[in-house]
Amino acid sequence: MAIFKIVYWIGIIVEMAIRAPLRKTWKGTAKTEQRVSRTEKFLLGMLSVVMVVFPLIYSVTGWLDFADYTLPLWMGWLGVVLMACALFVFTRAHMDLKSNWSPSLEIFESHTLVTSGIYKYIRHPMYASQWIWVIAQILLLWNWIAGPLDLLFFIPFYILRVRAEEKMMLDTFGDQYREYMKKTGGVIPRLK
Ligand code: SAH
Repeated sequence: MAIFKIVYWIGIIVEMAIRAPLRKTWKGTAKTEQRVSRTEKFLLGMLSVVMVVFPLIYSVTGWLDFADYTLPLWMGWLGVVLMACALFVFTRAHMDLKSNWSPSLEIFESHTLVTSGIYKYIRHPMYASQWIWVIAQILLLWNWIAGPLDLLFFIPFYILRVRAEEKMMLDTFGDQYREYMKKTGGVIPRLK
């Protein structure tokens, strides 16, 4: 369904537009810590292939037709709803994290621990939005290579990233982050 492909590309454009100004600030900000591993670099590269390159080939050519599948229409519409949720969480997270955002694992000279806004409810809203995104992608792009393949790279990325990020945050913010972890869920809000 063309409409579902269009919704997917709207999602990509919205995310890029939200990140663009923060990317500019990030480039010019002094870093005191960088913990980027080779595995993570590889997984990040693969994620852009499965999120952008394969969906693009699927959307503009017929080369991936052999891997197509069909879903009931309502599942496609569920994908649209999930995409809207992913974009909402993604936008809120960027508005709250502001210049503390980095595409990798870094601490800035002026880094502050954010525990308000959406970060009051979950510690990893950007990764939560990515979880919603991968499910939306499966429902919107009806092709094994353009859709579900994303999960294959996102799951190991998520596990490695969260572990390394929380270690870095604990090393930097110590008890402040430990307290925050006690009170706040990871990607799912904690029920009080
Ligand atoms: N895990 C968060 C942030 C992802 S961006 C999320 O899913 O929303 C990754 C960068 O954010 C890391 O380099 C780290 O320095 C920074 N970061 C993560 N949590 C933070 C927090 N609560 N306050 C400030 N910076 C944070």
